[in-house]
Amino acid sequence: MELSRRITGLTGGGPDGWGLYFKARRMVAEGHDIVELTIGEHDIRTDPSILAAMDASARGGHTGYAMIPGTDSLREAVAERVSARTGVPTTPDNILITPGGQAALFAAHMAVLDDGDAALFCDPYYATYPGTIRAAGGVPVAVPTRPEENFQPRPEDIAARAKGARALLINTPNNPTGVVYSRPTLEGIAEACRAHRLWLISDEVYDTQVWEGEHLSPRALPGMAERTLVVGSMSKSHAMTGSRLGWLVGPEEAIAHLITLATHTTYGVPGFIQDAAVFALRQGETLEEKIAAPFRRRRKLAARVLAGQNAVRPVPSQGAMYLMLDIRATGLSGEDFAEALLERERIAVMPGESFGRSAAGHVRVALTVEDGRLAEALERLCRFAGELAD
Ligand code: PLP
Repeated sequence: MELSRRITGLTGGGPDGWGLYFKARRMVAEGHDIVELTIGEHDIRTDPSILAAMDASARGGHTGYAMIPGTDSLREAVAERVSARTGVPTTPDNILITPGGQAALFAAHMAVLDDGDAALFCDPYYATYPGTIRAAGGVPVAVPTRPEENFQPRPEDIAARAKGARALLINTPNNPTGVVYSRPTLEGIAEACRAHRLWLISDEVYDTQVWEGEHLSPRALPGMAERTLVVGSMSKSHAMTGSRLGWLVGPEEAIAHLITLATHTTYGVPGFIQDAAVFALRQGETLEEKIAAPFRRRRKLAARVLAGQNAVRPVPSQGAMYLMLDIRATGLSGEDFAEALLERERIAVMPGESFGRSAAGHVRVALTVEDGRLAEALERLCRFAGELAD
């Protein structure tokens, strides 16, 4: 079949990193009792009050084509949220509503890359990053980070790869590591972007899940508003993963072109979903904190379980719904460890290698099951790792 190289080459010829997740799902379908600590999906559903707003909007008739850039009220609500959180004056003309953060990631790269342009991204990374860059015609170039530096990117590593590159994609709070980039790290990144005329694509979909310190949006740093596209989403902050609602924040001119892209690709987001998002955003931080609370609690619980053992070293994390564990003391790769853990203990975690070379010898635990089940699974994981390490 003659399909495009663009689509057949999307994963770069290698696996897409989701193998273990699908294996665990198959085992569940076959009736096995698996503790699934794989994907970033809340164990609660979308709040009934948000569903009621969605229902009222749909029944009220908002089921036709909606405004392609986003409804005025949603663009307004997002602009207000961004202005309040970052201090950067932001208007609806700086906002494009997209079908989820993933569509925003794709659109952002479409906006700044021409075919064959290099696009940098930090490793470890959210599994779709390289494929998203390829889908937009770019050539993904990984910027390594190091476990011993807590996976904070080094500006000099960005500078060393910047020649010929047009963009840098970062993610803080970070999936998969749970690390929040520090102010000095972000200032160094901003400096590298300004010096090398790179667009910064800043994926901030976990901005409401910060357990220590603060989330700093690099768009707020000097000279960055004109070269930064921020990716946001209701998925993680409001447990609305299935509603597919996200956004891009950027300079007006870029957003104007991105609206043209949306007209020729997604044709926008359903109006009743947008109205539900307006309702959810108007609930303010109380609702966001309620949704983030289980992950805040489980991170502490996990720290207590992990404190009493030596085989597994947790990466010190400050945010997001994940915990990265260094399992190199077992002598296994992350892939082999995750595979063995699934087979022997019926616990599914993601191999670090699914998120790039920098996370080799690690596994990512999603804190997405109820507290008791999580604690018990972590105890078994530690015991299993301890036996291997002996
Ligand atoms: N960015 C990161 C870092 C993610 O972890 C995810 C989802 O897991 C996304 C973007 C995409 O989120 P969505 O498309 O659901 O908004």
